[in-house]
This record gives sequence, C-alpha cells and structure tokens, in this order.
Amino acid sequence: MADTLKTLTCPACGKPMEKIFIPSQGINLDICTQGCGGIYFDNREFDNFDEQHEDISKILEKIDKTKFESVDTTKERICPNCGAKMVKNSTSIHQRIEVDDCYVCGGKFLDNEELQKIRAEYANNEERSADVLKYVYNTVGTELSELDRKNAEAVQKRDLAQKLFYKVMGL
Ligand SMILES: [Zn+2]
Ligand SMILES: [Zn+2]
Repeated sequence: MADTLKTLTCPACGKPMEKIFIPSQGINLDICTQGCGGIYFDNREFDNFDEQHEDISKILEKIDKTKFESVDTTKERICPNCGAKMVKNSTSIHQRIEVDDCYVCGGKFLDNEELQKIRAEYANNEERSADVLKYVYNTVGTELSELDRKNAEAVQKRDLAQKLFYKVMGL
C-alpha cells in the first residue's frame, strides 16, 4: 500500500501528525511530534520496525527524550487513514502492551514508547511466536494430563464395578 501524502490527524490527541521519512526502510511514517508522540504505521509498515535488528534510530531522533502530552490509552481510536474504529490488541501473551489496529486498511497506531517496549519484549518474531507456542502447549498439556488422569480413574471404577457385578451374581 502506498504512503498517503495527506496530513493525518493523531487518533489519540487530535494534533496533525508529522511525516517522517525513514531512509533505511524507505518508508514515510506519521508521528505525532506536536502532541502525544504516537506513531501511525500504514498497512504492513510495522513489520519493518518491530524487531531489534531493525533500525529505528530515525524515529528515536524525533521522539527520544521529548516530553509528550499524556493521553487516555484506553479510549477508542478512529483510524486516521480510513476513519474506521480501531481495535485494541495485545502484542504478546503477556498482555502488557496494547496497540490499536485498523482491520479495514491495516493501519496500526502505537502510543509513545510502545514501539520501544514491543522491541524490548522479544528480540525478533521467532521468539515472539515461540513464546505463544510454548504457552499453548503448556495449557493444552495440563488439560491432556488431567484427561489422562480422569481416564485412568474411569478404567479403575469400571474394573471395580465389574468385580462387584461378578461377586453379586456369584460368578
Ligand atoms: Zn497525538
Ligand atoms: Zn484504517
């Protein structure tokens, strides 16, 4: 998807966002430099910035050590690109960071410092997925062993019932 040239309105604080060209990725980002420090990524742009080996120095130049307006992060946001309601999603199973996603145009909005937090959570997407898998296996694994235990119990009870039946019937 092509970068739009129109100035976007920050979905968190309503200020006009500044277009910042990131040469290493060849991408224009919209950053709320005059307001809350939030960053808007067009469809799939975020994939170029979420891993630790990916260069975000150009973004940090704009936002690091700057005092930004604080905003209510729990409030519903409207996508500045297409006007749809954005949906809050956790970035990992730990649910420490919530970002706003637009399911209509694929845009993503991060509040100030969320990009740094997301990158600090895992070194790369392999680690992020591995953690999800581990979580799923742990959960399913516990349920499976509980099922096994109940199964074994049921077998025992059936044996007992059978013995009792034979005894009562004098077999
Ligand atoms: Zn803002
Ligand atoms: Zn959108």
